[in-house]
Amino acid sequence: MKLMIPDHIRAISPYVPGKPLEELEREYGIRNSIKLASNENPLGPSPRALEAIGKGLSSLHRYPDGAGHDLIQKIARVNDVAPENVVIGNGSDDIIAMLVQAFVRPGNRVIVPLPSFLMYDIAATAAGAVVDRVPLDGLGLDLTAMAERVTADTRLIFVCNPNNPTGTVVTRAAFENFMARLPDHVVVVVDEAYIEFAKNPDCLKTGSPADLTRPLVTLRTFSKAYGLAGLRVGYGIMPAELAGLLHRVRLPFNVNALAQAAAAAALDDRDFLERSVRLVHDGLESLYTAMDCMEQVYFKSESNFFLIDVNQPADEVFEKMLRQGVIVRSMRAYGYPNYIRINVGLEEENRRFVRALETVLQS
Ligand code: PMP
Repeated sequence: MKLMIPDHIRAISPYVPGKPLEELEREYGIRNSIKLASNENPLGPSPRALEAIGKGLSSLHRYPDGAGHDLIQKIARVNDVAPENVVIGNGSDDIIAMLVQAFVRPGNRVIVPLPSFLMYDIAATAAGAVVDRVPLDGLGLDLTAMAERVTADTRLIFVCNPNNPTGTVVTRAAFENFMARLPDHVVVVVDEAYIEFAKNPDCLKTGSPADLTRPLVTLRTFSKAYGLAGLRVGYGIMPAELAGLLHRVRLPFNVNALAQAAAAAALDDRDFLERSVRLVHDGLESLYTAMDCMEQVYFKSESNFFLIDVNQPADEVFEKMLRQGVIVRSMRAYGYPNYIRINVGLEEENRRFVRALETVLQS
């Protein structure tokens, strides 16, 4: 084929998701394997969301509500903003793509932390942007260096809080210093995919009515604390002017009907949310204790995952863990060739992970 593919598209390394359980079981003939690789909610979906899905099944011959009315009303109420400030997406990935499509044209610049969630870089590169990758300071975002990289061509800055994969948070004070240094033409996107798990009292949390007076977009997702990763729902909170721009590029039915119904029901399920967060906090403590007992180097996190320095190629540890029926994530693609990332699972899954890691690291 003699296709004229743009160089910037050829240059993209496709996003590699965590390995699915079914794939592991198919390839290795293993039963009862566990996955701690994609920061999912081990409790399963919220029961209220499942009930809403059941009720929605008989209407699947209809298109979804393209305006997402009920879900948007509920998100707005929970966050104390107006519906005009909310945009829903097919996962928060979809909103990242919309932001880049709406605000960035080829040659413009986008600032991202490195390492951080890979989709910022991929979406910006796909739009023909120049990506300014700003290395972390230790494991935390270097907001000072990020502000210093701003030029007249910068359109977007991504701030991941807590940061995936390091689990660090940005403090309110550091963020306000950063914002004060930015010129007016830059939109700041604060990705709060894991914000429900953060415990640090100084942790930044955006999306308040006051944040709607500045060029700031807050991203949230139903994929983590709300347990709905498979349905794909996320949302952004932003000034109405920015939301209006995203609606120009949004696909008409970007969030399917079951996802809208389930997400709205999950927002009401405070009990499920609390259980999910408690499970993560308790799980982190017991996993840290187990790592201490093994004298294993690891990094405490404000999220539902954490990094472990396995002091040998992470890809090999990943492979060996697969043979034990445990899927973890190698951090090689994130620039940490000796680190793995795991998310908190159910108690029994955490114990199984620890046993498997002991076996693998002693082999
Ligand atoms: N942001 C961050 C920081 C993430 O880690 C993820 C998922 N891995 C997402 C956004 C995307 O989440 P979703 O598209 O499922 O809402």
